[in-house]
Amino acid sequence: MADGNAGTWCRQSIRGRYRMSHRLIQLGLALFMLVSMAVLPGWLASADDEVRWLLEYLPWVLLGAAGLVSFVYGLNKLGFMVLVCLGAYALIRTQLQVPLTQGNVELIFWALCLVAPLLILLYDKLPERWLFGGYHLSALMVALIPCALVYGLLGRDPQGSHAALAGWFELLGGYPAPWLTLLPMAGYFCACALGQSRRQDRGDSASLLCLMALALTCFNFDVAAISSLMFTCLGLALLLLLVLHSYRLAFYDLLTGVRNRRSLDARLKGIRGRYQVAMVDVDHFKSFNDAFGHDVGDDVLRLVAQRLSRVGAGGRVYRYGGEEFAILFPSRDRRRCLAALEAIRQVIADYPFQVRDRQPGGSSRRRHRTSAPKIPPQTITVSMGLAQARFDETGAEAVIRRADELLYQAKQAGRNCIRADVAVSRRPTRRRAVA
Ligand code: GH3
Ligand code: MG
Ligand code: MG
Repeated sequence: MADGNAGTWCRQSIRGRYRMSHRLIQLGLALFMLVSMAVLPGWLASADDEVRWLLEYLPWVLLGAAGLVSFVYGLNKLGFMVLVCLGAYALIRTQLQVPLTQGNVELIFWALCLVAPLLILLYDKLPERWLFGGYHLSALMVALIPCALVYGLLGRDPQGSHAALAGWFELLGGYPAPWLTLLPMAGYFCACALGQSRRQDRGDSASLLCLMALALTCFNFDVAAISSLMFTCLGLALLLLLVLHSYRLAFYDLLTGVRNRRSLDARLKGIRGRYQVAMVDVDHFKSFNDAFGHDVGDDVLRLVAQRLSRVGAGGRVYRYGGEEFAILFPSRDRRRCLAALEAIRQVIADYPFQVRDRQPGGSSRRRHRTSAPKIPPQTITVSMGLAQARFDETGAEAVIRRADELLYQAKQAGRNCIRADVAVSRRPTRRRAVA
């Protein structure tokens, strides 16, 4: 292992896996919006009036639901971004349904293109504490102040502002409004490419999707019903992100990043055949916690989870609770499962765990200076019990119970070892009743 700090390395590795799936989902949803923009306007042109009427109201329902769920889940960044999109949609439906050349409509369009994407980026990058609890009002001010400024500056003298802005952008052949919506998007992509965007919450994809909906709408403003289409797609995409978020909350352990016990229970419900279950427990974990603190204990759990998730023989790891993990092998090949467990037990035992220096309040330089290992590397070991499903057992509880008993035997045998039950005999052949 190149990195001496196990805690940091392990956290990065598990986050790396999250980031992968996160980016893939983000890419899929962005493609969905692009394809919708290319395909749906053509279909809508030949659609019934009822469909068009429905489409006009769908963004309110979908974005409203996405915003509500975001605030209920405490995803306030996303909630505020949805509010900006709802505001933009309201402005488009109420003010911009007439030719841009009429009155100060072009000015409003210009202001929308300028302010809405910047608000999305602002909400995305604002510190979390700004958007929580008693700070809701200040978060709203973030949106209201630029809107009021633009309204005050441009709205007071629309004709004058119009002429002044047209003069500024004469060289570009008129207002560069749609291009302005692309700038925050380009900035977002650059930030991702430079590795600046390290957050793992749903905000990253959400801000990109909101920016895309705004940019695609403003850029294709002459296409009929483009705003309804794009904001409907955005509402659907955001609701999908929220469903995925709920799935992760329900079936994954947030500390270690592996699946949780609920996920194991769901998997075991319909399982058949001669699968195998290993129960894994960290040895003397309590004394580790007592000696180095709960945070370092958490690092140990992350490290163990990450190593266990690399187990071979098709095994899938679940956090069973506390410092106990379960590994489910769909394979009936006992020797293969035992070899995979033995290999991973050895890997964990051989790894020199460097306890992280967590001095609070120190400056980064001081922290850097004091990060030299003062505590010698620690050895972490695990004990395991492996049980195979038997033909006479109906539920998975019995297999888990036996794996637990075998784990207890491994502890009794001195820890850092594996105990497995005796090989399962063949399925008893049915004998015909003798007449
Ligand atoms: P043994 O070798 O017999 O398994 O001993 P042990 O000390 O590992 O087992 P014991 O059951 O006595 O202690 C388990 C400890 O795990 C107690 C509890 O505080 C700690 N623990 C449980 N969940 C967490 C967690 O999420 N984080 C941390 N840091 N500690 C946890
Ligand atoms: Mg233990
Ligand atoms: Mg235990």
